[in-house]
Amino acid sequence: MLSNNNANACGNVPIDCYHLLRDFHDKLKAVMTGRTHDLAGFTVLSYVVFTNPVPQMSLATAIMALGATFIGSLAPDIDQPTADLYRRLPVGSVIGRIMAPFFGGHRYISHSLLGIIIFGVGLRYLLSMVSSIVLVDMVIVWGAFMIGFTTHLVADMFTKEGVAWLFPVPIHFGIPPFALLRVKTGGGIEKSVFFPALLVANVWLYYTHYEVALYFLRNTIHR
Ligand SMILES: [Zn+2]
Repeated sequence: MLSNNNANACGNVPIDCYHLLRDFHDKLKAVMTGRTHDLAGFTVLSYVVFTNPVPQMSLATAIMALGATFIGSLAPDIDQPTADLYRRLPVGSVIGRIMAPFFGGHRYISHSLLGIIIFGVGLRYLLSMVSSIVLVDMVIVWGAFMIGFTTHLVADMFTKEGVAWLFPVPIHFGIPPFALLRVKTGGGIEKSVFFPALLVANVWLYYTHYEVALYFLRNTIHR
């Protein structure tokens, strides 16, 4: 599919071909990275729900909390115009190009402790404004967003760029500490190791906590 389209679109102009392939590669990378972050956020959310006393909540709250985890899992990449976050929005690429420069470049303020505080306080304020109109438990929704957001930053620590936790101090932290030993974002290791490892972690988590999961679905969530 790609080669046919590109063969027609490229013609004999190699530079166009290069840009098309580059564009395709960036999109594929963004989707893969987005999926890995979503799955990582979902894994941590499940773990928190299974291992902590969770207050009763309405079905609407549970659905919104799940959605908030997915959004929170992508939100730190608001500083990257090609991020999966923007690809999921209508006219996202335009919004991405406008918004991203405000965050000072990729992996800076939104990927730091300061970013966690700014997003956390900002979202808390936003949710408190809509809480009188939307009848859901905003504290749970907020907590779910923050789980996704924080998980994203921890997951990014495994990549070559690391995370500038102490922004504006320009030190990037990573696991392991040497960038040389870390993985490339959206690269082969992410697809063949991280994503499958997260899937296995979920199978294990749900297998070992299925009674808690059932209790949560039957008793904790109500209409
Ligand atoms: Zn990121």
